[in-house]
Amino acid sequence: MEQRGKTETVIRGIAASRGIAYGQVFLYLQNELEIPRYVVEPGKRIGEIARFEQALVSTRQEIAKIQGEVRKNLSEEEALIFDAHQMVLEDQALIGETIREFEATGLNIETCFNAIAQRYIAAFAEIDDEYLRERAADIKDVTGRVLRSLLGQTVANLTQLVDKRIIVAKDISPSEAAGIDRSAALGIVTEGGSRTSHAVIVARSMKVPAVVGARELTARVRDGDWIIIDGYEGVVVLNPTQATLFRYGKIQKQKSSFESRLLAANELPAETLDGVHVTLRANVEKADEFALVQQYHAEGVGLYRTEYLYLSSLHMPSEDEQYANYRKIVENLAPAMVTIRTLDLGGDKPMPSNPHLIGPEANPFLGFRAIRLCLENPEMFKAQLRAILRASAHGKVEVMYPMIGCAEELARANALLEEAKGELQARGQAFDAKIRVGTMIEIPSAALCADLLAPLCQFFSIGTNDLIQYLLAIDRGNERIAHLYDPANPAVLRVLKQVIDAARRHRVKVSVCGEMAGDPIYAPLLIGLGVDELSMTPPLLPAVKFLVRAMKFSEAEKLAAEALAQTDPGRTHELLRAFYQRHVGEE
Ligand code: PEP
Ligand code: MG
Repeated sequence: MEQRGKTETVIRGIAASRGIAYGQVFLYLQNELEIPRYVVEPGKRIGEIARFEQALVSTRQEIAKIQGEVRKNLSEEEALIFDAHQMVLEDQALIGETIREFEATGLNIETCFNAIAQRYIAAFAEIDDEYLRERAADIKDVTGRVLRSLLGQTVANLTQLVDKRIIVAKDISPSEAAGIDRSAALGIVTEGGSRTSHAVIVARSMKVPAVVGARELTARVRDGDWIIIDGYEGVVVLNPTQATLFRYGKIQKQKSSFESRLLAANELPAETLDGVHVTLRANVEKADEFALVQQYHAEGVGLYRTEYLYLSSLHMPSEDEQYANYRKIVENLAPAMVTIRTLDLGGDKPMPSNPHLIGPEANPFLGFRAIRLCLENPEMFKAQLRAILRASAHGKVEVMYPMIGCAEELARANALLEEAKGELQARGQAFDAKIRVGTMIEIPSAALCADLLAPLCQFFSIGTNDLIQYLLAIDRGNERIAHLYDPANPAVLRVLKQVIDAARRHRVKVSVCGEMAGDPIYAPLLIGLGVDELSMTPPLLPAVKFLVRAMKFSEAEKLAAEALAQTDPGRTHELLRAFYQRHVGEE
């Protein structure tokens, strides 16, 4: 039977928070801000600046209040989102430029502030990185609040939601997301947004299903329509039939019993049935993520991508700022190890505070990126190395270089590390003099010459994301060829084996920190090839740990040998999938 005679329609989006919900739509449509534009009379200009300052102060108070509520109702982690908002409000570049624009044009402060804010939003929105594009959403959210305060309008909120409903919106800003009543939201669907948008983070923390990128949905549903949202597959079903409802009911039951099995393994050791321990660590991007590392019981951090500190701030972070940031995560996770990777800017990650440092390039992924940029800017690089060294006095730290292509680069990076140590000694500042040094293996030349790199470091971390991209000459961003990006390609397997064998011969630890490590289909293959460690985004840990605990190491070795003998990657995929199903018994 169809709901109220309407036909069932399936809309595909992106799965953002796991779970299935069925319920009525709460259509949330925000109205756009209209900003008047006028010239302020010379006699009223001082008053205009005072009005601006007043709006900043009251917005700060508003955000502090929301932050307090979020801390109380959600968690400390969600509350931290609003620290980023407060930082936008305190940003001297944004405020100073607004006042300069006002002094130069004499236009009302809303117009000036909006113009400067739009410039920053556009700069962040252009960055080809999901997480950083979300910073554009932060700036948009906060500056929208300031503008509403200047215009005397109240901020739209989602507190009108009283029944248990599925929220459908074009987009939901972090502060709107914070206003959602947990007991009233059955699920969240947005037309825009990404897996890392704040609405999604809130949805995950509330454990309600969410789908993002459901295009044109707001035009196709009305308030009160019945829909299913499937946060596993990223599907929204409008007006589902009884048959569809029955099918989803069954899926929901299976999924939730599988998830409880996964979570039951979360706190247990990552040990195979034949007693081999596999170190499972976390990939993080922000110091605050130590809480996630603990929640998912990772054995420390295998990859701290430090570039986000540079990318998310509007100025170049100082040595002290970097030190405070690294110290926070190191201290909170001690005695677990934190592997801090030096700056990997360039490629898809330009630096908003200093775009000229890299400049335009015809092939940014083959260009002035990561260690190449750092070796050419030794003072900037040494400031980061000193910050990492200083953090090493507060816990356990390893330092790791990205995009090393040859032994000479690694030797030059090491020489700068020694200089940084000397500078700290001269200052009388503490650090771990025996800090362990590692290199990412993510350029084919480094993989093929792993034996030349091994004597210059204590560990390798294989960055399969870049290694596969460079080895197969496939830009993953290019949708026409994305299907060719295949971790099971025989060339990839052979290169991985070569690197792992070289590491074993030279007794350096070898880990994998690319996406392949967190995929339970590939993890047994990597373990069987002989990696010591896998590092992945924290929510992927339970599934990988479950699998490790369900298999024998000897079986993984056999799987790796079989996979290496294949000439057809299709067949390798079959082998890997069969292994997973045999041990986990889930699709
Ligand atoms: C990789 O290339 O696999 C990697 C982990 O580094 P990033 O994804 O930061 O480039
Ligand atoms: Mg990389």
